[in-house]
Amino acid sequence: MQPSIHRPTTITIDRQALRQNYLTFRQLAGPQRQVFAVVKADAYHHGAVEVAKTLQEVQVDGFCVATIDEALQLRQANITEPILVLNVVPVEQAPLAAQHDISLTVDSYEWLVQASKQVKTPVKVHLAIDTGMGRIGFRMPVDKASLLAACQILEQSPLLIPEGIFTHFATADEQNSAYFQQQWDSFEQTVAALPLKFSYVHMANTATAMWAPTLDNSNLVRLGIGLYGLSPAGKLRSDVALSLKPALSLTSQIVAVRQLQAGDKVGYGATYTVQAESEWIATVPLGYADGWHRNLSGSSVLVAGHKCPIVGRICMDQLMIKVPKRYALGTTVTLIGTQDQQTISVDDVASYGQTINYEILCSLSERIPRTYIN
Ligand SMILES: *Cc1c(COP(=O)(O)O)cnc(C)c1O
Repeated sequence: MQPSIHRPTTITIDRQALRQNYLTFRQLAGPQRQVFAVVKADAYHHGAVEVAKTLQEVQVDGFCVATIDEALQLRQANITEPILVLNVVPVEQAPLAAQHDISLTVDSYEWLVQASKQVKTPVKVHLAIDTGMGRIGFRMPVDKASLLAACQILEQSPLLIPEGIFTHFATADEQNSAYFQQQWDSFEQTVAALPLKFSYVHMANTATAMWAPTLDNSNLVRLGIGLYGLSPAGKLRSDVALSLKPALSLTSQIVAVRQLQAGDKVGYGATYTVQAESEWIATVPLGYADGWHRNLSGSSVLVAGHKCPIVGRICMDQLMIKVPKRYALGTTVTLIGTQDQQTISVDDVASYGQTINYEILCSLSERIPRTYIN
């Protein structure tokens, strides 16, 4: 989609926040661990290439993405650090990955057998171990035999490079650590029982890096949401005092304003009725096509440091807000970010919309152009 650059609705990405957050987690992870930046889904919609280049300024160790196309986009932008594709890709794509030095995730013995026949140049692989996420990987303990067989293929095939082994936690953001502990134990036992040595042994996402930073035997962190300055648990958990800085803000401007009288209606379905004798209603040029979903009707935005509610239903390209007085056209409206010491966080929006901060970020549409500062 073509970004609408002539409309005053803009995402601003603070590059300094990205660098600072990365360094915060690097320090937390300690010198024995590398930190790969997870830049899947266009870096949680912050812009993968810009984020990658920003992190190169602080000697980022590598990147994780979800698809081969996301990896190729980084390679085409001359990003030369290691890149791991976290999802399973069709085995026919292994030669393409090999050609561009992109590391792949393996979740079955069959995949390796096929790959060993198809690749002509070395391909680096990470074995995924399913210790309880139930998503991808060799399922423990039932797939122990096929995992051993996979290790054998890796030992015998010079073109399959056993670069890593990893698992992923289902509950790392939760206070109750019983299930987490179970997955952890399962992974430790699995790795210890294998005849192969892997360069990278990894299990930590942001939540694990934050709440269980002293994991043994792992030497790589896959840092996602924390890089962007948000907590994996949203507002649910705040027992670690990390000073993370949200990197993304979203602003627009008032493009129309009118004074309506008691009883007048606003928006589709005429669901909002002016209550006071008169109210100022301003129109802001973004809507659900930009990712500002209809279920955010009733939530607040900032105008001149005031919290102003969205009234009526959010439209595809516009929404209406109730403001305390007539503001000039062009007055800034902050939907995510800080204005005059007032803040609306992604977590505020997520709580209102009954979802998680990740989904709010990933909903922001490509129609909104991004500007990079610092
Ligand atoms: C997305 C993802 C991550 C990053 O998770 P955050 O919670 O954003 O840190 C790490 N590992 C895997 C396998 C993932 O899919």
